[in-house]
Amino acid sequence: MNDQSMAPEGTPKLGDMPAEEFRKYGHTLVDRMADFLKDIDNYPVFPAVRPGDVRGMLPTAPPQSGESMEDILSDVDRVVMPGMAHWSHPRFMAYFNSSGSAPGILAEVLCATFNANGMVWQSCPSATEVEQVMLGWLRQMLGLPEKYWGIIYDTASVSTLHALAAAREHLSDLHIRDRGMTGRTDLPRLRVYASEYVHSSVDKAVIALGFGIEGIRKISVDQSFQMIPAALAEAINEDRRNGVRPFCVVATVGTTSCTSIDPVREIAALCGREGIWLHIDAAHGGAAALVPEYRYVLDGCELADSIVVNPHKWMFVPMDLSVLFTRKPEMLRRAFSLVPEYLRTPHDEVVENYMDYGIPLGRRFRALKLWFVFRYFGTEGLANRIREHIRVANEFAVWIDAHREFERLAPVPLSTVLFRAHPSGTDDEETLNALNERLMKAVNESGRAFLSHTRLGNRYAIRLVVSGLRTLEPHVQEVWKLLQQQLSLL
Ligand code: PLP
Repeated sequence: MNDQSMAPEGTPKLGDMPAEEFRKYGHTLVDRMADFLKDIDNYPVFPAVRPGDVRGMLPTAPPQSGESMEDILSDVDRVVMPGMAHWSHPRFMAYFNSSGSAPGILAEVLCATFNANGMVWQSCPSATEVEQVMLGWLRQMLGLPEKYWGIIYDTASVSTLHALAAAREHLSDLHIRDRGMTGRTDLPRLRVYASEYVHSSVDKAVIALGFGIEGIRKISVDQSFQMIPAALAEAINEDRRNGVRPFCVVATVGTTSCTSIDPVREIAALCGREGIWLHIDAAHGGAAALVPEYRYVLDGCELADSIVVNPHKWMFVPMDLSVLFTRKPEMLRRAFSLVPEYLRTPHDEVVENYMDYGIPLGRRFRALKLWFVFRYFGTEGLANRIREHIRVANEFAVWIDAHREFERLAPVPLSTVLFRAHPSGTDDEETLNALNERLMKAVNESGRAFLSHTRLGNRYAIRLVVSGLRTLEPHVQEVWKLLQQQLSLL
């Protein structure tokens, strides 16, 4: 029997979808994708659904027989679209935007088509070698020194987990890889340091690696929300006096709340004197270094042991793609290399097998996305877009500063603006917090923009992030108008 003979329902009994059917629906889908991106402005940014609405439209049991692509594609409109938050929308200004570009989307399709697994060089030489070269390009684009070696993981959370594992391995006298950490009376308490504004992924890494949540000490920040190096030095000294062993500092370039930039050079000098691993979380903010005038955001990072940047945040590469650079890849290798017989290859002495540098064995060919995006836009094209985002965000900050009923709550080092409504005569902090919570809810429920919030101390702050590929000044003007309108209705 022909593998691709049709079952009565219209799907093949064995094997894949026939090539002609793939071609037909591939074209249909690409047409729909192109229209979606072209008309994305007309979609609500955030859906008007309640929890359970989408789930309620899906059958609870799987289909017994295959279904037609017509039915599947029409259900994308019926079931999926009503519950979509559109991250690529030009008025999506929440969190840190992750907006996929068309060349990145095409690369993603190719990645799925090849479906190669780059666990070792031999399992897909192109996957390994394109990744090596792309990370060399990215390193140059960010102005990082040649000694930095890179690897792609899925997210910054996973990159940071690996960086902290490498820092732990760096404590070679403790033999943690061999002997573990439990049931040992000879181990000192180990400590990681980071600012109060560090991303929660660092806390999670500390939990996962067995240091316990007490294994991270939060350092206070100044009025610009930047870590205070003197407070860090004091914390390290105090811990040493109490028999705790400081082993890692995480500094952030672009904190999640307000994009503050820790004083990396000073922190690096301290880490150098103390023999402590320095990891930089530049997941979002690192992208700004693509712009020559903003390269200074990574000042001092050349002295760090490791640094994470996320091309899937502000470099228009579709989710997911995070890069960890380190000057000490041998620590990752020492922590994670384990080669069972079935993964040995004749080339192991002369090639790089990325599985040796982390937990995942299977690795998607994500580097294709970097290759497409870097080549299509060029370094200059990416820099122009990021520069414009920073300019427009600073314009928005000027509008806020000039308005009597709004106030800005933090400096704007990059393209994220923290602000709140502050009508004259309303000065009670709790009342202002409640008002701003209602304001943001009203804006988001309008479907015309999507914003998110944070707290600075006890103040509720609305965040407006200009980092979407399709976001231009008129979109920010529109959101500004919407904020004023909604405030007048509260
Ligand atoms: N670090 C910072 C500064 C972030 O803002 C974020 C997410 O927004 C992360 C790390 C975690 O990123 P990911 O979702 O890639 O794990």
